[in-house]
Amino acid sequence: MADISSSRLSRRSLAVSESATLAVAARMKQLQAEGIDIVSFSTGEPDFPTPDVIKRAAIAAIENNFTRYTQSEGIPELRKAAARKFETENGIPTDPAQVLISVGGKHSIFNALMSIVDEGDEVILPAPFWTSYPELVRLAGGTPVVIRTGPEKRYKITAGQLRAAITNRTRAIIINSPSNPTGVMYSREELEEFAAVIAEAGIFVISDELYEKIVYDNNRHFSIGSVPSLADLAITVNGVSKAFSMTGWRIGYMRGPKDVIAAAARMQSQVTSNPASISQMAALSALTQITSEVDIMVSSFEKRRNLIVELLHDTPRITFPRPDGAFYLFVDVSDYFSDRTPNSAALAKHLLEEHHIATVPGSAFGDDNAIRLSYACSERDIIEGVKRLNRGFGELG
Ligand code: PLP
Repeated sequence: MADISSSRLSRRSLAVSESATLAVAARMKQLQAEGIDIVSFSTGEPDFPTPDVIKRAAIAAIENNFTRYTQSEGIPELRKAAARKFETENGIPTDPAQVLISVGGKHSIFNALMSIVDEGDEVILPAPFWTSYPELVRLAGGTPVVIRTGPEKRYKITAGQLRAAITNRTRAIIINSPSNPTGVMYSREELEEFAAVIAEAGIFVISDELYEKIVYDNNRHFSIGSVPSLADLAITVNGVSKAFSMTGWRIGYMRGPKDVIAAAARMQSQVTSNPASISQMAALSALTQITSEVDIMVSSFEKRRNLIVELLHDTPRITFPRPDGAFYLFVDVSDYFSDRTPNSAALAKHLLEEHHIATVPGSAFGDDNAIRLSYACSERDIIEGVKRLNRGFGELG
């Protein structure tokens, strides 16, 4: 961190680190520009095009001149569609006034934190966590409080661990199921146990459900916000990025208690105004017109999950939980640590520089024993990438 006392930059800006995943992408692009063939297990987005129906809705929005400012909290049709989605798919009774449309799920989480966290408040983060959570908590003035987990428990916390982490400064916990980076999902029973602890403590829960639709093995996603005792404490965040292959369109949305949503909407009205009008029309089409495209994408991801898990089955000295959803594998590689590769960043660097396979070090997700592999790539790349990984591990003996 820079020397704050002599800096002309704000403490807030200096406390935030650059996205580690973007740093890997930058080095990968450099190597590619030198003509090196890199296999990427580092992407955080679906590799499918946005479905045609959605594209047509956006084109129609442009042609109909739907190109001006909208209500800053989002157009009423989209808030209504999101409210209906929360009710029918997630079992959370929702008035459209309890929905805020924002510029991506990341922005929704930022808005939620900015609305409930004061300077010095604590926000509980089970690790490994999505890389942006601690930075967003710090931006809001809060202090991240990390609960550690390990591969032996499938990287899941227990209700007992949650209870033990709560202090009188705790404002919220962020739960992400299915998880980026582990792909692991909490069961309904586990979430109901968390809900009892959360309701008793009277803290907020921010439930990040971006990967809700990408689940395998006939698993069913459960929203903790549907537990009645959390009606006034749960903030449920979702978005179109992962579910509909729309990462570039930048639409996220959240459902929460009316006062939280009103506070977040007030801030959003001063900071960004409305999310892009055209993207809102595209998101409306996604929430109201799309089904089969999602199923096709998910079954393709499931095939790839099966392939990468099978290919890595015989790789010695690594452990990882079989993912329930999302498109990541979180692999404990600590048995390969040595003087040459003492941590996850050094190991990921070795794999990228010497074996031309891009991964993301677990340190970016609060767990330095692992690396994250994304299988949002072709089956050919999965096969070639695993060969390179095995070569890279083999060389470390
Ligand atoms: N939450 C998780 C767990 C994610 O992995 C991501 C994106 O990688 C997001 C939220 C934010 O997605 P977006 O801002 O594109 O909606």
